[in-house]
Amino acid sequence: MERFFDYFTPAHYDLDLRINDEKTRINGTVVISGEAKAETIKLHAVRMEIKSVYLDGAKFEGFMHEDGVLTLEGVSVAAHEIKVKFISQIEADMEGAYLSTYENAGVTEKMVVTQFESHYARECFPCVDEPIAKATFSLKLTSVEDDTLLSNMPATFTTAQEGHKTVEFAESPRMSTYLLAFVAGKFCAKETVSKHGVKISVYAGLHQNMDDLDYAAQFAADVLDFYDDCFKTPFPLPKMDLVAVPDFEAGAMENWGLVTFREIALLANDKSSLDTKQYVAIVIAHELSHMWFGDLVTMAWWDDLWLNESFANMMETYSTDKIRPELRAWEDFYLTAVASSISRDSLPGVQPVRVDVKCVEDIANLFDGAIVYGKGSHLLLMLMRTMGEEAFFAGIADYFEKHKYSNTTADDLWNALTPHADFDVKEFMTPWLTQSGFPVVTTDQKQQRFLITGETDDTKYPIRELRDDLSGHYIINYSESELANKIQHIDAMNKEQKLRLLMDRRMLAKTDYVTSASLIPLVQAFANETDSVIWEIISAIVADLKLFFDQGTEEKRKFQAFVSKLALPNYRRLGAAAKDSDTYDDIQLRSTVMGMLLYSDNEEYVSDINNIYKGKDIAKVDANLRWVVGSTFVKEDSKIADKYFDLYLKTPDATLKRDLTDAITNMRDHDRAIAYLAHLKDGTVRPQDRLIFYLRLLRNHHIKDEVLDWMFANWDWLRQEEGDKTISEYPRYAANLIRRTHEAEKYKNFFNKYKNESILARDIAVGISEIDSRLKLYESDRDAVFAILDSLC
Ligand SMILES: [Zn+2]
Repeated sequence: MERFFDYFTPAHYDLDLRINDEKTRINGTVVISGEAKAETIKLHAVRMEIKSVYLDGAKFEGFMHEDGVLTLEGVSVAAHEIKVKFISQIEADMEGAYLSTYENAGVTEKMVVTQFESHYARECFPCVDEPIAKATFSLKLTSVEDDTLLSNMPATFTTAQEGHKTVEFAESPRMSTYLLAFVAGKFCAKETVSKHGVKISVYAGLHQNMDDLDYAAQFAADVLDFYDDCFKTPFPLPKMDLVAVPDFEAGAMENWGLVTFREIALLANDKSSLDTKQYVAIVIAHELSHMWFGDLVTMAWWDDLWLNESFANMMETYSTDKIRPELRAWEDFYLTAVASSISRDSLPGVQPVRVDVKCVEDIANLFDGAIVYGKGSHLLLMLMRTMGEEAFFAGIADYFEKHKYSNTTADDLWNALTPHADFDVKEFMTPWLTQSGFPVVTTDQKQQRFLITGETDDTKYPIRELRDDLSGHYIINYSESELANKIQHIDAMNKEQKLRLLMDRRMLAKTDYVTSASLIPLVQAFANETDSVIWEIISAIVADLKLFFDQGTEEKRKFQAFVSKLALPNYRRLGAAAKDSDTYDDIQLRSTVMGMLLYSDNEEYVSDINNIYKGKDIAKVDANLRWVVGSTFVKEDSKIADKYFDLYLKTPDATLKRDLTDAITNMRDHDRAIAYLAHLKDGTVRPQDRLIFYLRLLRNHHIKDEVLDWMFANWDWLRQEEGDKTISEYPRYAANLIRRTHEAEKYKNFFNKYKNESILARDIAVGISEIDSRLKLYESDRDAVFAILDSLC
């Protein structure tokens, strides 16, 4: 792939960007100084009009601007200064410099926000938009007078005239274009100073509550200081801004010194649910670790994106656990990074952590979260536990010291770590990172690649020692007698060992290694546990078993009775309402067992919910229980969904919106489902929330046919509206929810047409083998599951 960095090495950008009053375009001038390495200079310049080009002060007439590339030919191989005047567009598409809006006191407020990762800086100004092309940036930004203007660096000079404000920002350190950022809009804000003296500010739109900013500010201050000490290289910028943005494609973005977030990922207060507090902390910890991994030291090219993301995903957990142990960040890691990566990595054709990136479309494809984030971080945990924490972080400190303000590849990291290890780190890690999949291992260390299809191949994975904690990216297949022995001595296992046993058996049951029926006595064996994270896995196993049951059948009734019986002892102990004496486990477990009883239509549970919550304002229900209480009411009466949707549209509270989404999507009538699908298209549901709303609807088997058909009927529209990254998530996540032959046929018939489209090809192929494996499992294990349920009745 052609790299523009090979033609021209930028050293400094002087940017003057004027946002027009309507916030629809930017009138800009950029002066780039740097070194031409060839007689041609190429700059990325997409979605913009080039007004004029000057080379070393003289007008350059013969420039070409085609297909998003600005080309200057016939230049000398020497230092140059290129000045370009341009007009770029601001659209509401969540990439480049884009528009985000919100309602406040009856007024629509507009803000301009940037999202330049992975290759969208080129939509805002001409540049060499490649991570290796690090340069310093001086930005001068103009907008309307009452806007607050922010960028990576603090403002040094502000002028106001004729209703406009111009802010000049301090020169940035050397960094990649995708990390440049600015924001212009009206905000409420809270400030604090970290113990190490960095000014921390949290911003949100005026529609948000000031009290929701403190939690993030304090956590950000603490975690930034923690990283200073942990990485032994202090945060180099004087300030750190965190901004909640109403329209945002990903979860958050690690712009150096100006991190942007979805509102749901930043705003929290004392009354927020434990899940929200944990999520907000973890997202902040993730982004702020990128201030080192990614910002201070950046991958040379996107094929080593894992250097950024796998690390951030492990560090988010490691740091949150150290500074807020009460949030139990590792438990969240086991349930998300470990469980999702093992599950996705068992599918044939899934990408490895490290992949070749040949074209721009590949970059969008790289963000398979379960692999690049989940599996990558799981492998790093395995490495950290194998090396020992102290040795591992000594190597990391060396890495930052040696490579700060520059770019690296995997080898640079291995070279920094190996002197601190008693083995060759590169030799150990490379097969794990460059091969997809993982092995199933027996206790005598015999390994075989594990695939959900039941197939296998000759791929081998290095295992230094078989660990039965959760750090090894493999499945342990105990013999029947080993398993019986473990179950007999459940109390002798620690939490990670129990989780591993449950998670490994869950995966094995998806294949011929063991029958799904064996999961039923397994979860029964753990029924006396009061640990909430163990119950999360039990609940996930129960969710897997739902595959075998059709609506209205006797078998389903028996399974529901089984689930009720499993969940009731803890439910009766905890009740359906929060108590002052609740522990962490009580709070989390209550919502888990209530979810199980909701599924099983348990009469005692439903009557309790009616007694306690009927007629109460759902917004005021305990935040930990809102989703399940709301879901129970909508499941009883679909009309309640409309009432909740009114609130959904009115409230600025993103967490409440998410809980309401969970509840609303339990509706059972087809007409209502069709009406809500229309809301995905008419803009009533924000584009950033479309995918999650859609998948929640697709999860509901009462309306699944309509919901599936909607995606196919509206595909061309979706393809146009969604970014490359999001569009590939439709076939990926829809495949998770296909249960029956006729749904599978629809999926295949439709997506087969697109299986050669580069950004969709992998997700479609992987999706089809996932679906086929599930249908096969349904056929092979159903009778045994029914038989074991019969024996229990
Ligand atoms: Zn990240």
